[in-house]
Amino acid sequence: MKDKGKKISRRSFARQGSLAVAAGFIAPAGSAALIPSTGERLAMYQEQSARGVVCLICPNECTLKDGELSDCRNRIARRSKLYTMAYGNPCAANIDPIEKKPLYHFLPGTSAFSIATAGCNLACLNCQNWTISQTSPDKTRNYDMPPEDVVRRASAGGCRSIAYTYSEPVTFYEYVLDTSKIAHEEGIRNIMVSNGYINKEPLRQLCKHIDGANIDLKSFNDSTYLKLTGGRLQPVLDSLRTYRDEGVWLEITHLVVPGWTDKPEEIKQMCGWLAGNGFKDTPLHFSRFQPQYKLEHLPPTPAGILNRAVEIARSAGIRYVYMGNMPGSGFDDTICPSCGKKVVDRSGYRIVAQNLKDGRCSCGALIPGVWH
Ligand code: SF4
Ligand SMILES: [Zn+2]
Repeated sequence: MKDKGKKISRRSFARQGSLAVAAGFIAPAGSAALIPSTGERLAMYQEQSARGVVCLICPNECTLKDGELSDCRNRIARRSKLYTMAYGNPCAANIDPIEKKPLYHFLPGTSAFSIATAGCNLACLNCQNWTISQTSPDKTRNYDMPPEDVVRRASAGGCRSIAYTYSEPVTFYEYVLDTSKIAHEEGIRNIMVSNGYINKEPLRQLCKHIDGANIDLKSFNDSTYLKLTGGRLQPVLDSLRTYRDEGVWLEITHLVVPGWTDKPEEIKQMCGWLAGNGFKDTPLHFSRFQPQYKLEHLPPTPAGILNRAVEIARSAGIRYVYMGNMPGSGFDDTICPSCGKKVVDRSGYRIVAQNLKDGRCSCGALIPGVWH
């Protein structure tokens, strides 16, 4: 890892979480047994250096000596090789509405078989899944669920997609890659719900098998990014471009954290960058913060701030702007930018009505997305 200060900070963040086990997740129908992690596999994207073995999957580029655990707590060095620790061992598995990811322009009204292993390459102060993201796979209770089994369960559950989500799928890269290949053979789509903190080459390789993604753009201020998450802004912006250029359907989430990521001027800069870099048709979700983890002392995001963020995004020319974690906000529906008609009517995660034919509004305007 390049930034020593960042490393100490991430470790100390995670100390509290390392005692936790996964909690609050529901086993999918026909549940698998819960087991300690047995999923060590040789990791991809590793190279030798004089200081140890380097992981090239994400910008942290951890350099590990034998027995050392990575920053994401999901990889370990043994005999000068790097191993992923949670292959086939998710600590969470659920069937979710796709709207929960959130993906609003991707197979609305369908279900996604959703899995996570323990670990994350960032350490957000506001993490809502810190009990599984800020710990390692040997400390969670896991399912024995090899890739074929994930796909079989998704299919049996009537899911049109598999979502790699909850913690950070970049850290269980090999498991995602193998599962997504098999899913495609069975006609099931693949979704990344990710922080976008990944190097370009592994991402391009992954994108061949990924159909949709919701990526967090957590701040537009690099210093805030580092303090709030332990990561940097630029790699995330690069990932947005890569997902888009590789033809993956993309949606973006910005969590509005009071005092951290709620400044109108920075939201304006972020929306200006998105609009100026070809993301006007990329749905943008402003998500309401709820007090948790290290930011429990903060209030939930006031509605007025969220309304202002939506206004700023629309003024910047972003066409599909939504508000998340805010029932009754009135910003759940998809509105045709040409005629103003409601083309997808939502109530929470439920689709009330969908007035699209071949992806078009009745006025003829094409609404970008994956509708079938
Ligand atoms: S994926 Fe994990 S091991 Fe690899 S560089 Fe990122 S934090 Fe380090
Ligand atoms: Zn229309």
